[in-house]
Amino acid sequence: MKHGTSNGKHRIAASCILGLTVGLAAGLAAGPAAAHEGEETGDWRYGCRRGVEIPAGSIVSELRERSESLTFSPIVDQIATRFTQANLDDYLRDLSGMNSVLVGGVPYTFATRYSYSTGGEKSWQYAYEQLLALGYQVRYQNYTRSGHALKNIIATIPGQTTPNKIYVLGGHLDSISQNPTSSAPGAEDNGSGSAAVLAAAVALAGERFSSTIELVLFTGEEQGLYGSQAYVNEALSQGRDIESAVTMDMISYTTTDYGVLIEGETAWSSLMQSMADATDHYTSLDREFSYFSFGSDHVPFQDAGIPAILAIDLDWDEYPYYHRTTDTYEKTNPAFATEIGRAALATVAQLAGPLGPATDVPSAGGQPWSLSFSPNPARSWVSITLANGRPGLEAGLLEQGVRIYDVRGREVRHLVPAADAGGMRIEWNLEDGEAQPLRTGVYWARANGASGRLLIVR
Ligand SMILES: [Zn+2]
Repeated sequence: MKHGTSNGKHRIAASCILGLTVGLAAGLAAGPAAAHEGEETGDWRYGCRRGVEIPAGSIVSELRERSESLTFSPIVDQIATRFTQANLDDYLRDLSGMNSVLVGGVPYTFATRYSYSTGGEKSWQYAYEQLLALGYQVRYQNYTRSGHALKNIIATIPGQTTPNKIYVLGGHLDSISQNPTSSAPGAEDNGSGSAAVLAAAVALAGERFSSTIELVLFTGEEQGLYGSQAYVNEALSQGRDIESAVTMDMISYTTTDYGVLIEGETAWSSLMQSMADATDHYTSLDREFSYFSFGSDHVPFQDAGIPAILAIDLDWDEYPYYHRTTDTYEKTNPAFATEIGRAALATVAQLAGPLGPATDVPSAGGQPWSLSFSPNPARSWVSITLANGRPGLEAGLLEQGVRIYDVRGREVRHLVPAADAGGMRIEWNLEDGEAQPLRTGVYWARANGASGRLLIVR
C-alpha cells in the first residue's frame, strides 16, 4: 500500500521553502524560512508540513473506530450539485493570478497572497467582496501577530434553531514561496482550498440550516497557523460553541493516488467518518485516514478540544512545487479539487442540519405560478421559464412581467416576456435597467406571486 509506512515515503528531509535538509535550513535564520517554522510557539505542529517524520502506522485505509454512518439529506444532494468545477476553477484562476479580478472595483492580478505583502491584503479584500456579493454576512477578524496586523475573512450563515452551534468550513488564503513578497501564486497551496471555500459559498447561498455555518478564509497560516489560532482564541474567549471544523489545504494535486487524506486524531474519529461518508457518497475518490495531525489549520482547533479534520491530497507530499514560485495554476487539477471540496462541503452541510432554501421573499401567494432558471448559476445569460396550472393567465403575465431584485430588495430590472414565447419564457442577458452587467450575487425574481432565486456568477 502506497501510503503505508514500509516505503519511507513520508520521511522527507526537506525544508519548507528551500528544498534543503532541515539542518541546513536552520542556518537560514534571516530568510523567510525562519518565520515559517512555527518558531513563535516552538511547536513543530504549527510549522511546515515538509521535514516531519510521520510515525509508522499513522496512515491507515480503515478507521480505527467506526461511528454511525452519516445519512445525507436530499437538500445536501442539491447543495453538492451546485458545488461546481466551473466555479472552483474560476476562483482558483482568480487567486493564482490567471485572471484579472476586481478588488474595490479596480482591476488587480494576484502575484502573491503572502500575508506580509500588498498582495496578501488585496486577497483579504477580494475574498471579503466575493462573499459579500453572494449575499453573506461577512466580517474581517482583525488580529496581530509578530507585529503584523492581519485579517481572517468570515462569512456566516446564521442557524435557524441552534445558532450558537457553529460548524466551520475553512482553508488558508495566504501563500508563500522562496520569494514571497513578489511571487507566490500558491495555486495548490492553498488557492485550491480557498477556491473550494468560495465555491462552497456559491453552493450554499440562500440555504438555511439549524446550526450556524461559518466559511472562514484564514491568513498567516504559513507563518505558524496564526489565523486559525486567532479564530479559535476569539471563539473561546467569546464562549462560542464550535461543534467542528473541516479545513482544506492542498486539494488539487494528484499524481498516482486519486484520493483524499482525512487527517484527524482518534478523538475526532466520528468527524473523520463523516468526511469519509461524504467522500463515498458524493465523489469517486479513494480515501485514507491519518491519525497524525500537524502543519495546517485543523491543529489549533484540535488543541482547543474542538473536533477538527484536514482534507488534503493523498499525494500532497509529492508535490514538486510546494512553497515555490512555480506553484502555479497549470500544476493543479480542478476536477480533482472539486471532488475533495464537494465532500468537505457535504460533510459540513449535513452536520449543520439542512433546512432548504430561504423563502423570505414576499409573495402575493395564492396563484400556482412557478419560476425556473437555466442555467443557475448563470454567467452571461439566463432563460427564465414561467409555468402555471391555470391556462389563460398569460395575458396578465405579459402585462406584469418579471421583476428582478438584489439581496437588499432593490429592483434592478423589470423584464417583459416576448410574445412569441407565449409569454412563458424570457431570455435575459443579466443586465440591469441601465444596460450594466449585474455583479456576482444572489438575485430574486418575482412574477405573479411566484418567486425564485437566481445566482449570477461572473
Ligand atoms: Zn497550506
